[in-house]
Amino acid sequence: MESGGGVVVKVAVIGGGPTGLVTGMGLARRGHTVVAVDRDPGPPPDGGPWPRRGVMQFHHAHAFRPQVGQVLRAEAPTAWDAWLALGCEPIEMPLGDGGTATVGVRSRRETFERAVRSAALEQPGLELRVGHVDGVTTSRGRAQGISVDGSDVEADLVVDASGRSGRVNRHLRGPGVGGECGIAYVDRTYRLRPGVPVPPMTNALAWQGNYVGFMVLVFLHERGIFSALIIRSTANRDLVGLKHTRAFEAASAAIPGLATWTAPDVAEPLTDVLPGGPLLNVFRGQRGPSGRLALPGLVFVGDSVCTTTPIFGRGVTTSLAQVAELLRLVDEHGCNVESVGEALDDWDRAQMRPWVEDHIMMDHAQARRWAGDDVDLIGRLPSDVIMSAASQDPSIGEAIGPYVSMQALPSALATVEEKARAVYRTGWRPQPDPGPTHDELADLVAAAVPTA
Ligand SMILES: Cc1cc2nc3c(=O)[nH]c(=O)nc-3n(C[C@H](O)[C@H](O)[C@H](O)COP(=O)(O)OP(=O)(O)OC[C@H]3O[C@@H](n4cnc5c(N)ncnc54)[C@H](O)[C@@H]3O)c2cc1C
Repeated sequence: MESGGGVVVKVAVIGGGPTGLVTGMGLARRGHTVVAVDRDPGPPPDGGPWPRRGVMQFHHAHAFRPQVGQVLRAEAPTAWDAWLALGCEPIEMPLGDGGTATVGVRSRRETFERAVRSAALEQPGLELRVGHVDGVTTSRGRAQGISVDGSDVEADLVVDASGRSGRVNRHLRGPGVGGECGIAYVDRTYRLRPGVPVPPMTNALAWQGNYVGFMVLVFLHERGIFSALIIRSTANRDLVGLKHTRAFEAASAAIPGLATWTAPDVAEPLTDVLPGGPLLNVFRGQRGPSGRLALPGLVFVGDSVCTTTPIFGRGVTTSLAQVAELLRLVDEHGCNVESVGEALDDWDRAQMRPWVEDHIMMDHAQARRWAGDDVDLIGRLPSDVIMSAASQDPSIGEAIGPYVSMQALPSALATVEEKARAVYRTGWRPQPDPGPTHDELADLVAAAVPTA
């Protein structure tokens, strides 16, 4: 592949998660020279468990949208091939014209990251180093590389792909939008027993149940492996005990829709119950507190720009969309890294920030409804509230498809918001699925772990 204007850019990437490695592969395939640094040494060579400390979500449930496969096929095809070889399952749906469309990829996060990493290790022009990035080195007000455990790595462009918890350049950036989302979950990974068919799903990737005061999701991964999640408001502490196996098992048995997945004759647990860390909805662009670029020659991509609640499984998609845009901008601007930063900031604000704002609004309203509030019909309606109304007015459904599949921004729902409001003004409300209420679930948890 040609580099932008034939110029070879020296790039240092902070972070070897999905964003850092796909960026590194895309740049190296264009002929640029890339060093990507991550403090994690990678999976043990004997194929044993990969602890992946520092990435809280590594062992948690992930669903992968089709855009993830699209970016991999375009920018890191060997990673796509490796993912297939490790057993990921692209889900094909028939189209009206006789063709098919990929609507998602079933895989655990660990399977995905093992594939991306193994491909990155084989990519000529990309060097993976294990180390801690202490900071960005500068000369005359521009980034000129990174400092790794006290040694300098020179670069024309520094890419910060340090994830949602990356601290190394936090001091350079302006205040973000958002914060903790007010929602928490616990999850557990299972495998369907041999011969057991996949229970009913809500869509190609997941089954969802909505109850009074909480929510349940099942994400189906590869080879009959799935994760079951129980999701609650952080304002309410009485479901915290779900992190204990006995409480999770009692809850799973008591929630009929979930029991169809987790009953002992249906599936066997593969892990303990995993408590999650704080979930965030945060947007931070490329600028510092003064409104100028945080540092010319330094760009941020992936979760370090845009982090959303995982309930809709959007994070890897938004991360790799940024990677694709950064690669396009490097093609266009080459060594003019300041132009890359400016253009990326405009794109981030137009294309990424709306997803964070969408989640902030939905999660805040969800937490209030879980606390007993009615749907607020005065202000803007959150996207999930608009979507629910489609069951009563099918013309709403036509507008939500592009939003649900992330082919249109959340503003696409504005065209049907009034129709949804009219549905709610009739007094109709979504009915909870059959199962315990939040208070009944809390009693079950307290009985299962009396001292928790
Ligand atoms: C609980 C949870 C569930 C999720 N579920 C989904 C889902 O279902 N679907 C979906 O699409 N997305 C999901 N996401 C989002 C998805 O996990 C992220 O979007 C994705 O991990 C972003 O990748 P990244 O490479 O930008 O960051 P990360 O994966 O966080 O990688 C950043 C890397 O940078 C390294 N690093 C940081 N600082 C330094 C330093 N100073 N020196 C060296 N290395 C450093 C870290 O060790 C890490 O390896 C979920 C997120 C969470 C929290």
